[in-house]
Amino acid sequence: MRVGVVGAGISGLSTVHELAAREAEVVAFEAREEPGGIVRSWRMNGHLVELGPQRLRLTPGIESLVDELDLREELRFGDDDQPLYIYHDGQLRVVPLSVREAITTDLISPLGKLRILAEPLTGPAREGETVDDFLVRRFGKQAARRYMGPLYSGLYGTDPREMLMEYSLGRALDSAGVDRSLLVWVLRRLIDGRETPPICTFEEGLGTLTTALYEAHADAISLDTPVTAIEPAGEGYDLQTDTGTEHVDEVVVTTPAATSADLLDPVDSDLAATLRRFNYNPIAMVFLESDYDREGIGALVPSGGELPISGSTWNASFLHREGLFTCYVDPNSYPAMPESTDEELGQVAAEAFEELSGASATPIGVHRWDPGMPAYDGSWTAMDDLSTPDGIHFCTNFVGRAGIPGRIRSAKGIVGSILGD
Ligand SMILES: Cc1cc2nc3c(=O)[nH]c(=O)nc-3n(C[C@H](O)[C@H](O)[C@H](O)COP(=O)(O)OP(=O)(O)OC[C@H]3O[C@@H](n4cnc5c(N)ncnc54)[C@H](O)[C@@H]3O)c2cc1C
Repeated sequence: MRVGVVGAGISGLSTVHELAAREAEVVAFEAREEPGGIVRSWRMNGHLVELGPQRLRLTPGIESLVDELDLREELRFGDDDQPLYIYHDGQLRVVPLSVREAITTDLISPLGKLRILAEPLTGPAREGETVDDFLVRRFGKQAARRYMGPLYSGLYGTDPREMLMEYSLGRALDSAGVDRSLLVWVLRRLIDGRETPPICTFEEGLGTLTTALYEAHADAISLDTPVTAIEPAGEGYDLQTDTGTEHVDEVVVTTPAATSADLLDPVDSDLAATLRRFNYNPIAMVFLESDYDREGIGALVPSGGELPISGSTWNASFLHREGLFTCYVDPNSYPAMPESTDEELGQVAAEAFEELSGASATPIGVHRWDPGMPAYDGSWTAMDDLSTPDGIHFCTNFVGRAGIPGRIRSAKGIVGSILGD
């Protein structure tokens, strides 16, 4: 069994790692000169910035990877107990993530809080229901629009009114094991004392994890070698690159949907057409320097025009990265984002941050992701038409869960199915 892996972001690297651990033969190709994909840690103006994910949760899967790669000494923990804020009506308000915060927050009126308690009496998701419709029906308008919707949809850059339950939040709730009532599920976890895994990163940033994975398997991974096509050949497939052809029995594709479509066109043009339907939203990360000293993990800004950013992460506070704040700008929060220059985006984000925090801020850099996050919008009905040929496997955000822990779990599952578990 020889497996080919296309892409060496966290999905591709975890797939290679898992295959190698199980002594399967593997060959992987990465288009860029560096491994890691969206996970990238850089130095900017003396600050360690994360171009993609800002932090991790130390789930059991990540913890065992950290130990296998001997990275425990590099691990750094964030301050979990700091509040997360929502910018609502011109002020920062605490997002109720604990019982104490739920009682004390001024984000929701006393009547709005009472309305949340009625959630167990409401019915399950209905066919065709949007995330916004579902949350409003279950928790009332205030909780749905002021924090639950933005909390879920914020990073994807999609308005909750455009997200269908069945293809987005519904799937996340199912995989978390939420059967009927989300409120009862949360209370049960609180009573059981089940804790959310701690926030962590590494001394030199999250890129430490992907670099270590690459270094452990460098002999199997060709960097700076984009796959140009996947072609059927005999019982398996040929992976075409500018440097030659590699024959494999099975292929794990980890690239975003549009790239996967181009690569798989020679295998199945209908599959390629389906893949081209999935929308992604671009996102710009704007890095700011500020001496703002309020404690917090960050602030979400619900869509609706109050500020032209979708949120900010306060790296300075909960990760102790002095003076560093990261703002997110996407077309949902700032429609002119795609055509704006980096300088304009820096200015827009700095002004929004100043408005939100009351502290001055200076932009030190901008990084754009396009494609950025899967939109999980109405285009996800394409999932219903997605059928993969034998020997082709998708280990990607668009079919599985986004996020580093989810990607690692998905790689393990796919390797298990390839090796016939
Ligand atoms: C802005 C942002 C913030 C995020 N924040 C968090 C967070 O805080 N916590 C968290 O857990 N998750 C976060 N995520 C999600 C997480 O980063 C992603 O789910 C994950 O990194 C995706 O990894 P991947 O390997 O599936 O895809 P990618 O990282 O996109 O990897 C795909 C790889 O394929 C390569 N490639 C492309 N074309 C070819 C080709 N033709 N041949 C060979 N290789 C090719 C690419 O260069 C890339 O390296 C965030 C994502 C974004 C965009």
